[in-house]
Amino acid sequence: MKVLVTVKRVVDYNVKVRAKADGSDVDLNNVKMAINPFCEIAVEEAVRLKEAGTATEVVVVSVGAKQCQEQIRTALALGADRGIHVETEGAVEPLVVAKLLKGVVEKEEPRLVILGKQSIDGDNNQTGQMLGALTNMPQGTFASEVAIDGDKVNVTREVDAGMQTISLNLPAIVTSDLRLNEPRYASLPNIMKAKKKPLDVFSPADLGVEVTSHITQLSVAPPAERQAGIIVESVEQLVDKLKNEAKVIS
Ligand code: AMP
Repeated sequence: MKVLVTVKRVVDYNVKVRAKADGSDVDLNNVKMAINPFCEIAVEEAVRLKEAGTATEVVVVSVGAKQCQEQIRTALALGADRGIHVETEGAVEPLVVAKLLKGVVEKEEPRLVILGKQSIDGDNNQTGQMLGALTNMPQGTFASEVAIDGDKVNVTREVDAGMQTISLNLPAIVTSDLRLNEPRYASLPNIMKAKKKPLDVFSPADLGVEVTSHITQLSVAPPAERQAGIIVESVEQLVDKLKNEAKVIS
């Protein structure tokens, strides 16, 4: 069973991002970049399926500028076998990513595609769902457990009422939630080995996709600064402040 897993290059989650002075975008100058955390979980799940003997090959794909190859190499060091880079000029919107991934799915014909549930830069939560619609494949989003069962995959999802388990016919699409697993760290020998693993580069034209844009980012602004809190001396003082200063109780 071939598993295709997607990784997006995003600002490292530890970085406190700043908006550019003109408010046009996030300032990415000298900022540490990393694999989107949900994609790391997706890679880990695919590698575990291979270690369990369920998957035969794990192919990792990233869409974006040349620097995405750093994140593909990291995924290869975590245990993926082969990389595919779809090179675009900078970032592209989720619908375009989904169309490009559809092209890769048609080329590779994986039985299972695992994406992150959401990228932490754009917070879109769209790509997996759009890929499902474009490929006509069933999808299990926000997976906290994935179990292959013959020609089906059972996906357990966290929903409002608790846990829901659904069964999807393979080939299928799964998007990973935080609780699916805890990703491993890449060891130094595996980082070295990853440099020799195959990595193919395609252009959008190779996949028959025209890169267009339907979304214009109008502005980016930091959240309003929070005022410092105070420590009250007593419950009476707290009630008094909530009533007379904050005016949130009467
Ligand atoms: P989003 O819809 O942007 O929140 O992204 C959801 C998931 O789709 C991410 O966690 C990735 O697994 C995948 N994805 C989105 N953009 C890209 C990209 N440029 N390259 C590879 N995978 C992507």
